[in-house]
Amino acid sequence: MSTENKAPTVRLPILHGYTKEFFEWCHKRELRFQRCQKCRAWRHPPRPMCTSCHSLQWEWAPSNGKGKVYCWTTVHQALDPAFAEAVPYAAVVVELDEGPRLTTWVTGISPDELRVGMPVELWFDAVTDEVTLPKFKPLG
Ligand code: ZN
Repeated sequence: MSTENKAPTVRLPILHGYTKEFFEWCHKRELRFQRCQKCRAWRHPPRPMCTSCHSLQWEWAPSNGKGKVYCWTTVHQALDPAFAEAVPYAAVVVELDEGPRLTTWVTGISPDELRVGMPVELWFDAVTDEVTLPKFKPLG
């Protein structure tokens, strides 16, 4: 059994639209989420309209990069051969202090060590010249 959550990096995000903008901030090593300029609600994944007040006015607002493990699923059998060497790994949902939830990786620990509510902090993994992924590690 693996002692570390090895994040597969063979499947990268398709960079277009709001997703491209999100990852362009990550490439600059800034984690930003959309925030409504009318009601100040945060949202992710990116989309044009606020689900709280239906405003189309928004900004890319910076996150402090701290959050907690919300939930995860551990993959033991790769359905895609590209992930064969990574199993077991965990696809983790981190809830940021600001509220958005991000599906990501928590690195440096085994999936068996994950706990709901575990404090985590952001780090950036430049996996290619074009793509930098926001990942997390246990805090402290
Ligand atoms: Zn709003």
